[in-house]
Order: sequence, then C-alpha cells, then structure tokens
Amino acid sequence: MGDTARLSDPPFSNLFQRELPSEGKNHALRSIKQRVTAIRADHPDNLLARYFDPDYFRSLDDNARIRLLKVIASGLEHPESRMGVYVSDGRDYDDFAPLLDPMIRTYHGFRSNRILCQHHDWAVLPSKFRLADIDPFLVGASVRIRLARNISTFPMPAAMSASQRHDLEQIVVHAIKSLQDDSQFGGHYYSLTPGSADAMDAAACHHRISAHQIFRDMREDRYLAATNIATDWPVGRGAYISSDEDFLIWVGEEDHLRLMVMGTGRNLSHWMARLKHGHERLAELIPPFVHTERLGYITSCPTNLGTAMRASLHLPLPNLTGNGQDLHLAAKAASDFGLSVRGVDGEGSESGMGGVLDISPIARLGLTEAAIIERLYDGTKALWFLENTMI
Ligand code: ADP
Ligand code: MG
Repeated sequence: MGDTARLSDPPFSNLFQRELPSEGKNHALRSIKQRVTAIRADHPDNLLARYFDPDYFRSLDDNARIRLLKVIASGLEHPESRMGVYVSDGRDYDDFAPLLDPMIRTYHGFRSNRILCQHHDWAVLPSKFRLADIDPFLVGASVRIRLARNISTFPMPAAMSASQRHDLEQIVVHAIKSLQDDSQFGGHYYSLTPGSADAMDAAACHHRISAHQIFRDMREDRYLAATNIATDWPVGRGAYISSDEDFLIWVGEEDHLRLMVMGTGRNLSHWMARLKHGHERLAELIPPFVHTERLGYITSCPTNLGTAMRASLHLPLPNLTGNGQDLHLAAKAASDFGLSVRGVDGEGSESGMGGVLDISPIARLGLTEAAIIERLYDGTKALWFLENTMI
C-alpha cells in the first residue's frame, strides 16, 4: 500500500476503522501523518496541523482514535482552515486536551504561563461605547453581537439524530412562546423544518437570509459539511425574530442556539443590555446550557469557547481594501488590534460594496464579555483612523 491518502480513500472521518487488519490501521496512520505534514508545509496557520502529534494519535486506543478523527476531519479535508476542529461531545475537550489545549491557547491568545479559565462580566459603562464619538458617520454601521449556546440535555450538533434535532426545536419553540407574549420581545418563530406550521415561503426566506436574519443552507458550508453538523438539513432548523427585529435566536445552526442582537450604530452598551436581557429570559425557560469553569460555554468549534460571543461591526474600509479588491492589508491591520475580518455575508464571503468588512475580536475565551466589547470599540477606532489617514 502507498503511503499517502489517495482519492479512493474514504473521507478522513472514516479512515480509521476498528475492524481493519493491523496493516490497514498502519496505512491509515501513515495517511494521516502525511496529510498533516503536507498541510503544515503549505498552511502554517492551520492550528490542527501545527499541533497534531502522530505519536499522541498512535498512543490512543481504537475508540479514541475513531472519535478524534471525527473531531479533526474538517481540518484534514480543508487545509485552509484556521482551527479545523468540531467536537461531537463536550467531553472531547477534556479527553483530547493534549491536542486541543495548545490549539485553543494559541487561537485565543493565552500566554504560556496562564491556565485556561473563563470569567463572565457583562458590565460596560453606558457612556463609553458610542460609535458617534468615533465618527458620526458610524451611526449607520451595522452591529451584531451573538452568543453560541448548547443545551445540556441534548447531544452536541455533530452527534444529533434527526428526531433529536426535531425535539430540540420543539423545546425552543415552546420557550420562545413566552418571549412572544412579552411586549419587550414579541415577534415570530420561522421554522425551516419541512411541513412545520411555522414555515415561511421561499421568497420570504430568501429575503430574511439577505437581511442576515436567517442562516443559509448549512450544506453549502464546506467546513460544516465535513462534520455531521449540517446533517438532516433543514430538520429542526429555524429562527426567532423579535418584533423590532433587533433580537434573534437561531435554532439548529453550528450550535444548538445562536442568540443575537442586530441593528445600526448607537452605543454598543445598548446592544449589550438588550442581549443580556434576552439571554437571561431564555435561560429561565429552557434546560441549562453546557458550561465549564475551564472553557466557559461549550461550543462545537473551539474558536467560540468561553464567552461564545462574537461582536461584529460592518465597517466600510475602501482604502484599506482597495475598494474591496484585496483583504490582506485590512486583515493584517485588524489583527494588530486583536480583530479578524470577514466579508459582509459572513465567514468565507468576500467584502461587500465599497470595501465593507465584518470586523470582530478574535478571542472569545479568557476575556470577559465586557472586554470583547471594549476590544471591538477600540479596534474600530484604530482601524477607522488608519483608513482615514491613508493617502
Ligand atoms: P457567526 O458565526 O458569528 O454567526 P457568520 O460569519 O457565520 O457569523 O455570519 C452569520 C451571518 O451574520 C451572516 O449573514 C453575516 O453577514 C451576518 N453578520 C455578521 N456580522 C454582522 C453585522 N455586524 N451586521 C449585519 N450582519 C452581520
Ligand atoms: Mg458562522
């Protein structure tokens, strides 16, 4: 047998099987090792390839090897991944800590002598985060702050059956009814589940997707498609939108729930207060979220651990992006301020008209919710200054 993974080989998640004869297992191990070596050479930012140790993999028993391969399949299949990891069970984080901890520490910017730990603090000074104080123009910029949450009574999204996805949606729909009866929320739940009484027609769905209110077909996300997270689409998927369209809950996306606030400009502390309120109300209505002291809220992807909060702003940066043609300079400048950039349609998309980019703090673990908002505000100020002083 050859040493490298060939096109005829099964996907990486199925490469290692308990029933394989020992030569087959050795071939699988060699294939994985060669794949990691090749990715490491071409994609030094791929954290899976950087930290994967073939001897560690070899030291695991067959069950653990099969479990770990499912966790890392996306990163092996997509060398351009930054993290390349999606867990199927919250326990994966502890069971595979020798591989995952260094990846988590690097992504979230932990110094070598600092232990992994998460504290929560939402207290932001109401007067401090007015976007108009940076530039009155930014009052029109789109703000979104989202939280990822998983419910402890269900398996993680990559390990759910269709009927569990359906049951999860029913529990959340029931909880959301209480929000709908509350005049501060109101609104509707729109289900994507075929045959649901809460379904919407295709044109309305398309409109909501363009408005960033509902998520797109998850099977089109090649990173998720390499896991079981997009499986059974669109069963158990849907979105709640408040009557002011400023508080939303996505059901059945990358995590069981994504809670978010969305709107323009104002003061970031206004959006924090709205999100905190919505989060607290929902938490009273459903079983507890998965959370540990070490890693905070447990999420499918390690990039979201901790606060599981991604706070983003759509910022027009025509100078830094050459009118949206080249994101490299903007990405480099943003990373100096602890921010990452995405296109206006989210992860993997290109920049929007006029070089509009989605900017958000990279780290979500090891800093508080309030610190994330501060980082977004300070980074916006710095990037905006750069943008406007470029010749
Ligand atoms: P996340 O993983 O944090 O949910 P994604 O990159 O997957 O974010 O994007 C999800 C959706 O949210 C996309 O439609 C994206 O355009 C939208 N979005 C993200 N940030 C903003 C923002 N500041 N304003 C409006 N829409 C946003
Ligand atoms: Mg996403």
